[in-house]
Amino acid sequence: MAAAAAQPFGEAWRNPSPAGVYDLAIIGAGPAGLTAARFAAALGAKVALIERDRLGGASLNVGSVPSKAMLRTARLYAEMAAAEDYGAHTPNDISIDFQAVMQRMRSLRRRIGDQVSADRLTAAGSDIFFGQARFVGRRAIEVGDVALRFDNALIATGSSSLTPAISGLSETGYLTNETVFDLAERPRRLLVVGGGPLGCELAQAFCRLGSQVIIAQDDPTFLPKEERDAAQILADALARDGVEVHLNTSVAAAHAEGDQKVVDLVSEDSRIQVRVDQILVGIGRAPNVEDLGLEAAGVRYDRTAGVQVDDFLRTTNRRIYAAGDVCLEHKFAHSAEASARAVIFNALGLRRERLSDLTIPWCTYTEPEIAHVGLYVRDAWALSIPVETYVMLMHDVDRAVIDGAHEGFVKIHMRQGTDRILGATIVARDAGEMIGEVSLAIRLGLGMRDLAEAIHAYPTQASAVRMAAIAYVRGHLTPSLKALRWFRSIRRAIRAGADLWT
Ligand SMILES: Cc1cc2nc3c(=O)[nH]c(=O)nc-3n(C[C@H](O)[C@H](O)[C@H](O)COP(=O)(O)OP(=O)(O)OC[C@H]3O[C@@H](n4cnc5c(N)ncnc54)[C@H](O)[C@@H]3O)c2cc1C
Repeated sequence: MAAAAAQPFGEAWRNPSPAGVYDLAIIGAGPAGLTAARFAAALGAKVALIERDRLGGASLNVGSVPSKAMLRTARLYAEMAAAEDYGAHTPNDISIDFQAVMQRMRSLRRRIGDQVSADRLTAAGSDIFFGQARFVGRRAIEVGDVALRFDNALIATGSSSLTPAISGLSETGYLTNETVFDLAERPRRLLVVGGGPLGCELAQAFCRLGSQVIIAQDDPTFLPKEERDAAQILADALARDGVEVHLNTSVAAAHAEGDQKVVDLVSEDSRIQVRVDQILVGIGRAPNVEDLGLEAAGVRYDRTAGVQVDDFLRTTNRRIYAAGDVCLEHKFAHSAEASARAVIFNALGLRRERLSDLTIPWCTYTEPEIAHVGLYVRDAWALSIPVETYVMLMHDVDRAVIDGAHEGFVKIHMRQGTDRILGATIVARDAGEMIGEVSLAIRLGLGMRDLAEAIHAYPTQASAVRMAAIAYVRGHLTPSLKALRWFRSIRRAIRAGADLWT
C-alpha cells in the first residue's frame, strides 16, 4: 500500500510501495544522497532514496547555492560603488533592493532545484520516499509506517548548524544558515558569530548589501585552518568593505531590548556591548546522527565526528556505508559527491575506492576567494616531509592588474628536492576556478614542469599557476641546462643583431 506524504516543496507526493529488497537504500537527498542515487540507478541498481525535508539538502536549499547567489549580487554592488576605479561613474543613488536580491536568489535556487525533482529522480530509476527515516534493524529502514529492506544502505544525512553555548541567546533569537535565506528584510545591523567560511562569506555579502555588519571570531584569525597570510588578506578585505572586525573575541551573553538584540563581546582586554537587529550564528556543523536508529543497525558514531567509517567509507555494519557531511571532516558539497561516488563503486563491488585517495580542494567565496588543495606546510612538517614553496603574487599577473583584482597570491608547496606537488593555497578573485588545475596535477601526479609547459591563454588569472611553476623550473635548471640556455640566448641575440655590450 502506498503511503501518502507531503513533499515539503509543497507539491503533493505519494510515496511508492516498496519494491522488495533494495540494492541500495539511501537516507538523505543532499549532494551525497543524490549523487549515489543517480549513479547507482544508472548502473541498474534498485534504489530507494529517502528525504525528510527538501531534495537537494543543505547545499541547494540553505548553503552553497543561496549564499553564492547573494554574494554575486553583493559583488555587483561593490563594483558599482567602486566604478571610478574602472574609469566609469559611480551611479548617484545606489539603492539596494534587498527583496529583489532575495527574489533572484530564490528563483536561481528553484531553477537549479528543478534538476533534482522527485519526478526526475523517479524517471531516472530511484524510488523516492519522503519522511523521517530510521534503521529498525541491520538491514531494514522505517519511513513512516513503511519498512524498506536493503542489501546495502548509505547514510547521507548531512549536518546541521552547531548551537553555541551563549547565555540568553535562544531567548533572544538568532539566525542560522537554515533561516537566514528566508529573511524578508535586510537587517540594519547584523552580528555574525563565527569567522569560518560561512561567517566570512555572509558577513561580506550583507555588508556589501548595505547592512552594518559586526563579525566576532574567537580565534586570532578568520578561517583558522587556512594559512595565516591568506587569512590576513581576508581580514583586511572585510575591514576595507566596512565590516567591524572583532578577532580573539567571544560572545558572552545576549538579551533582547524591544526589537534590538544586545550582545556582550569579550576579548582579553575589553568587554563591549553591541546592539543589532539580527544575530547570525555560523560556528560550525554537527553531523546529523540523532534519531537514526544507528544502534539498531550496529553503526558506531560520535556526536562530533559523525558516523565512523573506514577508508572504504564502510561503517561498523559492513552493509551500511556513509558519505558526505555526516562522516567527513571536510564538509563540502563536492566532497559529499566524491565520497558518494566512491561508495557506489565499493558497495556494488565495481572497484575499491579509498577515501584517502581523494584529492579534495575547497574554497571560501569571499572577495578575494581563498582556495586550498592538498597539504598545508604544517601538515607536511607533521609528517616530517621537507617542503619548499613557490609563490606568485597576483599583482605581478597582468590579468589581475587589468581586472583591478591584484590582491593575493598563488602558493605551491613542493616536496623539497622533487617535482612533487604537495599542496597549494590560492588567494585571488577567481581562486576557486584556479585551484582545479593544481588539484588535477596532484590527482594525476603531474609536477611543476608539466604546469610550466601547459600553455595558458593570455591574459588570464590562471596563468599565475604557470608563473609559479616557471619559478620552480628556473630554480631547478641543471648546470648543463643553464649553460645551454645561456649559450642559446647569446646565439639568438647575435642573430638578431643585438649589441651585446650595451
Ligand atoms: C551557508 C553554507 C554555505 C555553503 N557553501 C558551500 C560551498 O560554497 N561549496 C561547498 O562545496 N559546500 C558548501 N557548503 C557545505 C555543503 O552545503 C555541504 O557540505 C553539503 O550540503 C553536504 O552534503 P550532504 O549530502 O552530505 O548533506 P546535506 O546537504 O546536509 O543533506 C542531507 C540530507 O539528509 C536529510 N536527512 C537527514 N536526516 C534524515 C533522516 N533521518 N531521514 C530522512 N532524511 C534525512 C536532510 O534533510 C538533508 O536534506 C555550505 C554550507 C553552508 C551551511
